[in-house]
Amino acid sequence: MKIGFIGLGNMGAPMAANLAAAGHDVTGFDVAAAMPEGVTKAASAAQTAAGAEVVITMLPNGDILRRVADEVIPAMEKGAVLLDCSTVDVDSARAVAEQAAAAGLSAVDAPVSGGVGGAQAGTLTFMAGGPEEAFAKVRPLLEVMGAKAVHCGPAGNGQAAKICNNMILGATMIVTCEAFALADRLGLDRQAMFDVVSTSSGSSWSMNTYCPAPGIGPKSPADNDYKPGFAADLMLKDLRLAQKAAESAEADTPLGQAAMELYAQFVESEDGKGRDFSAMLPRFENRRRA
Ligand code: NAD
Repeated sequence: MKIGFIGLGNMGAPMAANLAAAGHDVTGFDVAAAMPEGVTKAASAAQTAAGAEVVITMLPNGDILRRVADEVIPAMEKGAVLLDCSTVDVDSARAVAEQAAAAGLSAVDAPVSGGVGGAQAGTLTFMAGGPEEAFAKVRPLLEVMGAKAVHCGPAGNGQAAKICNNMILGATMIVTCEAFALADRLGLDRQAMFDVVSTSSGSSWSMNTYCPAPGIGPKSPADNDYKPGFAADLMLKDLRLAQKAAESAEADTPLGQAAMELYAQFVESEDGKGRDFSAMLPRFENRRRA
């Protein structure tokens, strides 16, 4: 397929390189980053759209996506698909999809889970929103860049699935870390706590797969001095998007709100910036009840 790829940062570069390695004809544009191997450089975002059946974006946020869409949509050929893999707010995803539809194109929002390692290995999970036919068209590309793609419904539903998942993850990680810090103070051994909880009703991905306590459970960023992994800054971004969506949809999400506030404090006023999101455990360990 002839593909345009805009935004070749930490995630976009390996994703585009995997598409090129699979034999696709990929033309890329980034305001700053260098082109990965196999990707032809375009002079502008609009230029990546020339003759492209699919234009992929992997950008920092919804405002930038909207700006890039304004430039790229008029340059895309009728029937082409705009595939946004960035994590952005649901409203931006839906606005861009409407703009694409009005121009005779279709749009799929397909944010990812799996991080830079997953992008490099081609094992990302995509959660997608948009018309069935457009999803079917981009599916072979998602299969190159990832291991799993779930169609979640109409435009914006990929972003909705992503922020709901990460709201659960953020709140669950916090309470798992709180519980370890409480267990410490109660004299309960961490290994015993893991052995019980990981096979009981308190179990979760945060406890069983990504345990925040060093030396306990499978290898995780806790065993590597809390180097990310999944950075606390990125968790904060997703929790903010979840609250933005909750406000827009008038949903009551008190724990999601509390999780967002705690990660904001951790990243912006404490030492959370650049650390894995599971570094909430040493944070709680070092604090007393307020
Ligand atoms: P990044 O900052 O490394 O890459 C973004 C790229 O977009 C940069 O190279 C930047 O120069 C480029 N860019 C910015 N404005 C542009 C414009 N107007 N035109 C063209 N290029 C432009 O970020 P990343 O880590 O690759 O993340 C990309 C997206 O993926 C984000 O939405 C992020 O939330 C999401 N995401 C990241 C991870 C992760 O672990 N890094 C995991 C899941 C999802």
